[in-house]
Amino acid sequence: MGQLDDAVAVITGGESGIGLACARLFTREGARVHLVGIQEGKLEEAVDQLGSDRASASVADVTDEQAVHDAVEAGFERFGRLDVLLSNAGISGAVAPIVDYPGDVFARTLAVHVTGAFHVLKHGLPRLTDGGSVIITSSVVGLMGFAQASAYVAAKHGQVGLMRAAAKEVAARRIRVNTLHPGPTSTPFQDAIEMAATGLPQAQAAEVFDGMIPLGRHTTVEEIAQAALYLASDASAMVTASTFTIDGGLSG
Ligand code: NAP
Repeated sequence: MGQLDDAVAVITGGESGIGLACARLFTREGARVHLVGIQEGKLEEAVDQLGSDRASASVADVTDEQAVHDAVEAGFERFGRLDVLLSNAGISGAVAPIVDYPGDVFARTLAVHVTGAFHVLKHGLPRLTDGGSVIITSSVVGLMGFAQASAYVAAKHGQVGLMRAAAKEVAARRIRVNTLHPGPTSTPFQDAIEMAATGLPQAQAAEVFDGMIPLGRHTTVEEIAQAALYLASDASAMVTASTFTIDGGLSG
């Protein structure tokens, strides 16, 4: 028996990195998944990997409300139910002090993370099974500051506020809403942030970040997926409005 037998999950940014690792683990645990992202080719590759009997996909930019609505409906129609929403799509924004930070990048970063998660909630909640689970991938910097990443830090904190409001709104339906807070996790996304933040090549930049983490290393995408599985499954039936940290002690 899998921990997500019969469950259906919609995962934004599910075709790469943390989202794809979650899709892999969720399908291994019996779920079917509908991936939502912006690059059709990457989505098709991910669906092929996961198996088209277990996975499907829609192209949608999460900042586009109608596109998110249509993507959720497509997933619901394909698999006939919706039990888990994983709002995970993200961008890093710029690496620059606030005084030099480009305003358009600031606005876009907030739009993808905060407005994007709002769209997923707004159009996913009406379809979500009572007792279902919503997970928003925030970040360790949703709980602490980090210099030269003001938009990303503000966006990741903003997701916590959205999660807390949503958790109170849907508790009567036994729907749980939580944020997941990964620390530095080995993906090309994080490699780019670390190289920009340190000005060093990837391996050396990663060492600098390892030095900040009490447990001394990056988290793997599989470890994040295990945390998401816990929040998605009935094992966390009494967990809502929580900030679930998996960061090797970085924010402690
Ligand atoms: P990733 O592999 O780049 O995944 C992000 C995904 O979101 C990509 O598939 C990307 O598509 C998609 N995406 C970006 N903008 C989008 C939009 N407007 N609409 C729909 N999809 C969009 O990076 P990741 O590391 O797995 O990150 C996943 C989440 O974890 C993000 O929210 C990130 O902030 C968070 N996080 C990551 C780390 C880390 O260390 N890796 C730590 C803390 C939090 P394209 O690739 O086609 O652009």
